Amino acid sequence: MTKRRRTSSRGKRTTINSVVAFIIALIIYVFFPDLLPESGQPSTPDTTGRAPAGQRADANLNLELGNPSGATADPSYADNYLIARDQYVLSYNRDGGIPNWVSWHLSVLDMGDVERSSFQPDPALPDGWYQVKPSDYTNSGYDRGHMAPSADRTATREDNEALFLMTNIVPQAPDNNQGPWVQLEEHCRDLARSGNELYIITGVRGTQETLESGNVRVPESLWKVVVALPEGDDDLARLTDETTVIAVDMPNQQGIRDTDWQAYLTSVDAIEQATGYDLLSAVNPTLQQGLEARIAAP
Ligand code: MN
Ligand code: MN
Repeated sequence: MTKRRRTSSRGKRTTINSVVAFIIALIIYVFFPDLLPESGQPSTPDTTGRAPAGQRADANLNLELGNPSGATADPSYADNYLIARDQYVLSYNRDGGIPNWVSWHLSVLDMGDVERSSFQPDPALPDGWYQVKPSDYTNSGYDRGHMAPSADRTATREDNEALFLMTNIVPQAPDNNQGPWVQLEEHCRDLARSGNELYIITGVRGTQETLESGNVRVPESLWKVVVALPEGDDDLARLTDETTVIAVDMPNQQGIRDTDWQAYLTSVDAIEQATGYDLLSAVNPTLQQGLEARIAAP
């Protein structure tokens, strides 16, 4: 009798506990879905900037030629923090308020007719990091200069908006931005429209000053490395000694608006020496050495 009552009472408690647990689970599910474990997300960050196997779109080739500075998505490396998006991959410098470099793949499929978006702070930066605002550049004398340019991602609104996040922007002298720099950007799109696909890595070096707002460093110079090859698959395996490589290093200054971009041609080796980065690091070493020593013919 006593035993049966105890059993029955224990059974009732178990039932109540199950109901309470179910209600708590339901509340979490409905109101706090962020607390649930995400399925299919990798727990270990990698430095490739690639989506994990199975999620990887063919178009996501942004870091195919290598991660120049070994950037990782680890906030404790605030001067070399990896931000990987479908539209580009970059290394961000928190204290500089600008990217170190931005890397992306360009083909004719990336170009459509979407209108330019508007500049926005990047909400994806780690908690507590200053989010550069468009107004940090106001009246500075510098353009909000895209590293990956707006016109390289006009197929969808979402693609174009990603380029207007301030983590893809540096203070750029108007004569650089609207002169030889945009000429080279247009040359790249011409190459893409005429049957080529391109790997483009562009970055900054040096600091000439800090914007008055105090949150953004002005680089001394902007560089760019372009590898172009006819449209196809398995691109790394198709690179040869003959592959088109364009490298430039342009002073971030006024007075160069009417200068041709070809005046700033240099070698990848020279950019590596000036920055300490290893560009094209995913390319076979022997081939890499040859491609990096060359200076493209103007
Ligand atoms: Mn520009
Ligand atoms: Mn290299």
